[in-house]
Amino acid sequence: MTESPARRLLLVHAHPDDESINNGATMARYAAEGARVTLVTCTLGERGEVIPPELRHLTGAALGEHRLAELTAAMGELGVEDFRLLGGPGRYGDSGMMGIADNDDPACFWQADVDEAAALLAEVILEVRPQVLVTYDENGGYGHPDHIQTHRVAMRAAELAAAQGWEIPKVYWNRVPRSVAEEAFARLAGELSGTPFSKAAAVDDVPGVVADDRVTAEIDGTAYAVAKAAAMRAHATQIDVAPPYFALSNELAQPLFTTEYYELVRGKAAAQRENDLFAGLVPGKEES
Ligand SMILES: [Zn+2]
Repeated sequence: MTESPARRLLLVHAHPDDESINNGATMARYAAEGARVTLVTCTLGERGEVIPPELRHLTGAALGEHRLAELTAAMGELGVEDFRLLGGPGRYGDSGMMGIADNDDPACFWQADVDEAAALLAEVILEVRPQVLVTYDENGGYGHPDHIQTHRVAMRAAELAAAQGWEIPKVYWNRVPRSVAEEAFARLAGELSGTPFSKAAAVDDVPGVVADDRVTAEIDGTAYAVAKAAAMRAHATQIDVAPPYFALSNELAQPLFTTEYYELVRGKAAAQRENDLFAGLVPGKEES
């Protein structure tokens, strides 16, 4: 049996592309540092809107298959080898945006039994034994049903795994400090004419924006900015990348953050904002 790396980070996301947008620099950093980085994506995002006209014929299962290939390419850019679909590819369907009829599809993730999905994720937790879990807040960052469900499943899985012998020492939610978002959008307003985009999104379109004092960790991804942009570009059906900006299918420009932010929700918070998600963990102590 090969020895597991000492530091192990698990990220749980809703669709292929969410990981690169939210955590691309963080994932690249820890992979480069030799930590084990495990990504679990809950759906293949087969109801996503496709940006490039030449790929718009892809819908449903064909789009899901294509997005799995995009995810594979993105993980290559970030140096992440361990990525999985919850319950295997296609186990849970994309639920589409909140309020549409697709939300009622019994095969979609929004309709999944939380305990059942969490049990599948708990198996991964018990296998990997991560010290750090990263996922979304209770609103899924911005209210998409699959993101909300991802939050519920991830938090429940952490409980189930704890009851079965592996309590994850630190749990974080993805965040962006309001002042950082506001400054970035102010800069974007001045630079918009020099970008390929004609309109800008707004601060409140960015998932996870909160008051600055709720942010407890900040990962400077400057050294991994190129890798993050490349990973985002690999999700070509979903993201139009023009660093330091990008747009989703709504074509609204938004900042591409190379520093990524987190709020610690389980575990012991440091007095100052952390710059390492593994900060404060005692080596060896979490190894059992
Ligand atoms: Zn998503």
